[in-house]
Amino acid sequence: MLGPKSTVELFRPASWRLKVGAVIRDIVPRRARVYLKDLPGEEMYNDTMKYMEEAYMHAGEYFGSKARENLIESVLSQFTYFRAFHGCRPFSFESYKRDGLVVLTRQRLANIAFELFDKTIPLNELQQLAEVADLQTRLGNLYFCANAEALISRCGYYLIYGSEALNCLWKDCLSRFHESQSRHREKGTPTVFACDVPLEWLQEGYRSGLVNKMVTHHLQLNSKWPVPLEEWNRNWGFCIPRDLPADYIRNHFHPAIIRDPLSSVSYTNLKTTCGWCAHEGTTG
Ligand SMILES: [Zn+2]
Repeated sequence: MLGPKSTVELFRPASWRLKVGAVIRDIVPRRARVYLKDLPGEEMYNDTMKYMEEAYMHAGEYFGSKARENLIESVLSQFTYFRAFHGCRPFSFESYKRDGLVVLTRQRLANIAFELFDKTIPLNELQQLAEVADLQTRLGNLYFCANAEALISRCGYYLIYGSEALNCLWKDCLSRFHESQSRHREKGTPTVFACDVPLEWLQEGYRSGLVNKMVTHHLQLNSKWPVPLEEWNRNWGFCIPRDLPADYIRNHFHPAIIRDPLSSVSYTNLKTTCGWCAHEGTTG
């Protein structure tokens, strides 16, 4: 079982703002903080953090790699988990209940395709296709979005057509490529899993990216010219290079309307409950 929870929900500032504010007061020089209060929120860009460099310069100090690292580690040490959302289209929920979310492997990809095509393509043929498929960044990783609505409105592919990696199997056969997509539209259940991902499982670039976002959003709210929550960009995602055991899945749901990136018409999902959430009440 998990220990006491301290979970960051990026788009629910109440879950992190007090702690992040305290770290900033503790670490960022006072004169830099005064400068930041006067800086319009919309001039703060979390991808470069240049505004923070300028604030430090204004205070006669330097926001170098040591100061950056100190800020990142101090903020992250306040929390244990990050609330993140994973979109997929399972054929069955048994393995999710038992094993949680698992990373993509070549064997798993072949198994999914075998089931998707109702065993009409021999498994060893699919294994051979999976063996030579160009899976690039997908292999061995699990992907998440920080916001469920953004996942449904901007990353609907996974909910409607399942794993994108399937496309990599059919590079020499366009008809199977299209059949794979159309079969997936009919099979499986569009599902969003809400998970608590241990922050220590995030790799360096995502750890700093997350902290830069929290720090910047806090300062944007704090500015004399704030950027309100409704205007924040919610399209942020990350991956972890490992499985996420079932204990870390908090709940799940099945969105009814999903924006289809391959069509101008939104996808209507009629399977808005499954045996798991209908009988065990995991939705929430
Ligand atoms: Zn369900």
